[in-house]
Amino acid sequence: MSKVALITGINGQDGKYLLQFLLDKGYIVHGFARKKPALTSENEQQNVFYHENDLSDFSSVLSLFQEIAPDEVYNLAAQSNVKTSFERPEYTSNINSLGTLRLLEAIRILGLQEKTRFFQASSGEIFGKTTELQRTEETPFYPCNPYAVSKIYAHWININYRESYGIFACNGVLFNHESPHRPESFVTRKITASVARIKKGLQEELILGNLDSKRDWGFAGDYVKGMWMTLQQNEPDDYIFATGQAHTVRDFVNFAFKEVGIKIKWEGKGPSEIGKDASCGRIVVRVSPDFYRPVESSISVGSPAKAYNKMGWEPETSFEELVRMMVRNDMGLSYK
Ligand code: NAP
Repeated sequence: MSKVALITGINGQDGKYLLQFLLDKGYIVHGFARKKPALTSENEQQNVFYHENDLSDFSSVLSLFQEIAPDEVYNLAAQSNVKTSFERPEYTSNINSLGTLRLLEAIRILGLQEKTRFFQASSGEIFGKTTELQRTEETPFYPCNPYAVSKIYAHWININYRESYGIFACNGVLFNHESPHRPESFVTRKITASVARIKKGLQEELILGNLDSKRDWGFAGDYVKGMWMTLQQNEPDDYIFATGQAHTVRDFVNFAFKEVGIKIKWEGKGPSEIGKDASCGRIVVRVSPDFYRPVESSISVGSPAKAYNKMGWEPETSFEELVRMMVRNDMGLSYK
């Protein structure tokens, strides 16, 4: 018999990849979304059922769990933007922290502990300003934005429900992962979409914050496989999903422009730094302090060693392949 999975945040970047991954494995998938996608005969898929729900509303969560009694729940829904979390900290906590609690409470209240396995999308942001360079599952948390704080509550309530009620509850501590489905409110997609528009003559300049900010960027398709693997183990546990390598925003910009045949020549420092098209001297990148974060995380690199040693998970897509895929998508070209 097919397993039944529930994905919250099914319309988000990871939700789209996880949906396809689970359908390919023969699951019946229920999608928890604030709005059902507009389905046509072309994009309608068998074995997918959408439910319009909001993580702020416990009664709708409870009745959905009562109706479908899922075998696996992947909690991907979140207010996931760090900048927005400074503007809307209470809303961010309500969805990310209490939303997770509401899902766990539904499992507990309905007595689904023996049946339902639960994956929580935790975040590498929880390590924030920690001074350890390679973050592991043992690294202390030091969040430096309201998003990260909200994710720590979710992380710990998940462990608490595992230990208190025996729920198969797991955290996947996800470091940044990107794809052509990333919205432009995230720096990677802002870069690739702008590079494509600049190449096509539709935009003059790309304006960014801290070019020296370093991140561990992987491909979303690889990370959803890790989420699924986490729930197939014999024992519940928490894992870091990361590439183990850091790149600066500047690296990302260089690779993205290289993909459209433009070499960048950098001049100046800090907010006065500019990037020029080396072939003609035209300024195509500028820095604006408006895009600096109020508090910047230190270099953020995760160690995927535990996920590899215990489950055999490893990222399959390189940084260069990721940037190429995103730029080609924004150029309207095919990509693998
Ligand atoms: P995303 O694209 O922002 O998707 C999040 C989804 O959550 C959206 O589809 C959104 O629905 C939904 N959502 C927001 N508020 C909701 C609410 N009140 N009720 C129900 N659904 C709500 O995020 P993602 O990149 O796929 O990431 C998936 C998860 O991994 C998130 O929890 C994120 O925090 C975590 N994570 C991601 C990364 C990363 O680099 N991508 C890294 C670490 C952790 P709408 O479509 O209605 O807006």
